[in-house]
Amino acid sequence: MIVFQSLTKAELAELLLPLSRIRSSRHPEADDPEAAAKLEKKERKQAAYRAQQIFHWVYQRFVTDWDQMTDLSKDLRNWLKENVTIFRLTEKVSQQALDGTHKFLWTLHDQKTIESVIIPAALQEKDEVGSDAPTESELMGQGKRFSGRETKTAIDSQKWGRLTVCISSQVGCAMACKFCLTGVQGLDRHLQTHEIVTQVLETRMRAPITNIVFMGMGEPLHNLDNVAKACQIILDQDGMGFSKRKVTVSTSGLVPAIDELGKRVDVSLAISLNSTTDEQRSAIMPVNKKWNIKALLDACRRYPLGPHRRITFEYVMLKDFNDSMEDAARLVALTKGIPSKINLIPFNEHSGAEFKRPSDEVVKKFQRYLGDRNITATVRISRGRDILAACGQLRSIFGTARGTEKHKDWAGLKVQAVTESAQATEDQSLG
Ligand code: SF4
Repeated sequence: MIVFQSLTKAELAELLLPLSRIRSSRHPEADDPEAAAKLEKKERKQAAYRAQQIFHWVYQRFVTDWDQMTDLSKDLRNWLKENVTIFRLTEKVSQQALDGTHKFLWTLHDQKTIESVIIPAALQEKDEVGSDAPTESELMGQGKRFSGRETKTAIDSQKWGRLTVCISSQVGCAMACKFCLTGVQGLDRHLQTHEIVTQVLETRMRAPITNIVFMGMGEPLHNLDNVAKACQIILDQDGMGFSKRKVTVSTSGLVPAIDELGKRVDVSLAISLNSTTDEQRSAIMPVNKKWNIKALLDACRRYPLGPHRRITFEYVMLKDFNDSMEDAARLVALTKGIPSKINLIPFNEHSGAEFKRPSDEVVKKFQRYLGDRNITATVRISRGRDILAACGQLRSIFGTARGTEKHKDWAGLKVQAVTESAQATEDQSLG
């Protein structure tokens, strides 16, 4: 069986072409090349149209039963039933935090587990430079909560900035970043194209997603073939129709693959930078020993950015490690001349982690320093702190992760989190 979500629209059309040929075999005209070319063109057009119809049904109308695709002929539906399957992810666990962050743990066909997270962003986070962007506690104090059931219209209205889904590209990860629980788990396997695309499809069936970021489990560029193809499918305007500005691939710094990504697909790029010296970066990100900061930033300068587009530098702030004003000054110097913005991410502490989260004051001071030098810098508000929302946490407790024993004392927290989330949902529906 062919998996539908592994196909681009062009590949699907190619697959459907023989069906068109059978139907038009009554007009062979083989001895007339001009007529044959005309016929070939007609058949290809018909196959392309059918592929477009099927993309609409699955990706825009969320229909996953061939029999319900009523504008396809019965013969075609029967052929599809016998030859093509529409893949679904099985939801093993889902948790919703008080701030609306919604995390899913999916089971794959081989019983491996992966995570996706829906992250609502309030309007305040949309105001980028915002040297005075609110801290998490301020935002939570304003009672901004997202139920996960808001309509697209409500999201487009003044209240919510965007609804982002953070998706995984691998089961586990080989990059071993010190601040990341997925890094502790090691790499199990790459995700296939359809397993990546379907994370977006499944979450879109549940909420009106506006943005996609490849920042979940895994190093996307370590699985470049599948990630680039998944991006092509996600960007197809007859499918889910995301704009290239709304799809961001993040990397820890696989330099040759950054160049290759830019050649294959037009998406936004984020770099997980996290340090301002090679010594510091190599200590927390082994990839830096192979491609250092200079090589990485040179690749950023080569990346084919369209007009008015910028690279995002992610900077996980670790207390007393990379949160000094000297770090801020080096960050300004390093990113000079690269159209970019900086996303400061105060470390999401978890049990067993060797780093701590800096105080809100330190984060604000760091952000203000950048803002005063005309650098666009946002602070990512930690989402879902009342659930297991840090990358790799949910899988570690409920899933198939290896090497996370010392982090397992979340077991008590998980019961509390599920209860609190259920309570919050109830409060909202009552309210
Ligand atoms: S931060 Fe990203 S690249 Fe690094 S170990 Fe975690 S998932 Fe892998």
